[in-house]
Amino acid sequence: MLHYFLIFCFWNRLQCEIGILKNQKSYICYVDTTLQKYLPERAVAPCFELIKTHGVHLKIVNHRVTRHGDYRRLPNGMHQITVNASLNKYRFLITLVHEIAHLVAFEAYGRRIKPHGLEWKRTFQHLMVPFIRPEVFPSQLLPIIANHFKNPKASSSTDARLSIALSAFDPKERTKTYVYEIPEGSVFRLYNGKLFKKGNKKVKRYQCVELATGRLYLFQPNAQVELIQ
Ligand SMILES: [Zn+2]
Repeated sequence: MLHYFLIFCFWNRLQCEIGILKNQKSYICYVDTTLQKYLPERAVAPCFELIKTHGVHLKIVNHRVTRHGDYRRLPNGMHQITVNASLNKYRFLITLVHEIAHLVAFEAYGRRIKPHGLEWKRTFQHLMVPFIRPEVFPSQLLPIIANHFKNPKASSSTDARLSIALSAFDPKERTKTYVYEIPEGSVFRLYNGKLFKKGNKKVKRYQCVELATGRLYLFQPNAQVELIQ
């Protein structure tokens, strides 16, 4: 009886390990084909290497307005990175490397460092260097990208010049209007449905009033909005 039990256990274990190997193989296959779909061609192989080297579990998710991607260490120790499927390939690359830089910085300097502090900035710069070349980015983006990575920000969207330059590569149907493009006094709708009236420029940002509450908000010039009137 015991023999049968041990054989049963062994068989179960074997099936399980074959399952893991199959999963791993199909996962690697999935990552490889996925990267080809979302990244500039010459960035696929080096990104694939980064993902394998650092044991990243990559998830491509539906569009989220509030962020391009995120990094989380799961309770089982896995490093999960999600990136929005809707990003154009250059923004996708920057976002993916941004999130991998979180993982690498936490592993190198410990988890007490600031998420977008000096350690992360240095890591992000270091990881981006092999990509800042004409084989990966178009010539009109290169100087803007190079400038951004002298001091990378927590979000590439806070660098208005970079964000607008990258938007030129968004698929046409998703092209939206920016706050800086609409006339002063226009009413516009934000992604959350709230209505605002555009006011004047304060240094770099636009002061806009929310119609429902009368409260004032400052908008980055590259905030994407829907023009109402
Ligand atoms: Zn971040």
